Amino acid sequence: TQTLAEADPAVFATVKGELDRQRGQIELIASENIVSRAVLEAAGSVLTNKYAEGYPGRRYYGGCEEVDKSEQLAIDRACKLFDCAFANVQPHSGAQANQAVFMALLKPGDTFLGMSLDQGGHLTHGSPANQSGKWFKVLSYGVKPDTHLIDYEQMEEIARRDRPKLIIAGASAYSRQIDWARFRRVADEIGAYFMVDMAHYAGLVAGGVYPSPLPHAHVVTTTTHKTLRGPRGGMVLSTDPEIGKKINSAVFPGLQGGPLMHIIAAKAVAFGEALRPEFKAYAQRTIDNARALASALAERGLKIVSGGTDSHVMLVDLRPKKATGVAAEKVLDRAGITVNKNSIPGDPEKYTITSGVRLGSPAGTTRGFGVAEFRQIGHLIADVLDGIAKNGPEGDAQVEAQVRGKVRELCARFPIYRD
Ligand code: PLP
Repeated sequence: TQTLAEADPAVFATVKGELDRQRGQIELIASENIVSRAVLEAAGSVLTNKYAEGYPGRRYYGGCEEVDKSEQLAIDRACKLFDCAFANVQPHSGAQANQAVFMALLKPGDTFLGMSLDQGGHLTHGSPANQSGKWFKVLSYGVKPDTHLIDYEQMEEIARRDRPKLIIAGASAYSRQIDWARFRRVADEIGAYFMVDMAHYAGLVAGGVYPSPLPHAHVVTTTTHKTLRGPRGGMVLSTDPEIGKKINSAVFPGLQGGPLMHIIAAKAVAFGEALRPEFKAYAQRTIDNARALASALAERGLKIVSGGTDSHVMLVDLRPKKATGVAAEKVLDRAGITVNKNSIPGDPEKYTITSGVRLGSPAGTTRGFGVAEFRQIGHLIADVLDGIAKNGPEGDAQVEAQVRGKVRELCARFPIYRD
């Protein structure tokens, strides 16, 4: 009956410290968000105690009546939200959702085609450091060097020439709309499966402000914690029940044991929230805010990769301010603005240094920032980066302190987790 604070003050201090950090800084990491109290409650619930290997109605353990209901709610809400016939809500993460597709549709040694990591793709789309790159033959496409838009011609040429068994679309650092239909056309031409990893865009798709891949892809994977604003986790969707059967076997018993029933309940809560009209408005505001941030940064001399954004995310080329990604991340952190360094297409710097940062609007939009606040944030970022342009990588401590004060004011005007 002891509280966390009483039972384990050391761990409690980290949770409290993290709460204070989230409250007092501006979160611009594009893959993060701020979940509702209801999602937190479900994720922190007694459902964590329950073993439920299998699927609703077909479990390997007794006592699953209640968790069967919460998992079914998550499945039904996911299918409604994304207009599809099949959902597996058990993957522990986005990486595991992708692994489940590989396990269901490929054999080790098979060939697949994905977007390369240094052009905006994800680690699990064939990076040599990842299992996807070690166990399969990987072909990669990228973006055009001049427009920074996906090089569809290159993708089609590779697909026709090398005939991969699976083509993957979807990215971690690509701000524009993706032409899902074009991928499907070439997949059909060569008899390949077409998978979309919509992890970054899922909330925008749910809100109807980014094109849905569901009518086009054989199978769609996603995380549930980015724009979709649910608990940390993954999911696999399909319009084809036969592919669904293969995915179910791949997730369990193929890859995972007991599902995280507390997280699945929290997914159900988040999907319920995303089905409400307010979420559509949130999704639209997320894009409006990203565009406001991009235009303020461009006005201050920064370059936005591809010239702008159709989504929640943008890549900023820092070279006009003579800044590297690693230096920018550090000085912005001191000013209370949290970002991540990110390679830009054709980056001359190593991936541990980079010439860019990736910025996103999902978390700030959740806390209530609008276009005016995002424009202000753009100017605060530019003020801090001007410090690097003037003084080198160490930046300008005085400006950083002034910006930190303004960040605190903004955060106080838009509080999170008030009680
Ligand atoms: N797919 C894409 C496109 C992502 O951006 C990410 C997260 O960064 C993942 C998959 C992996 O998700 P997770 O970190 O939950 O494994």
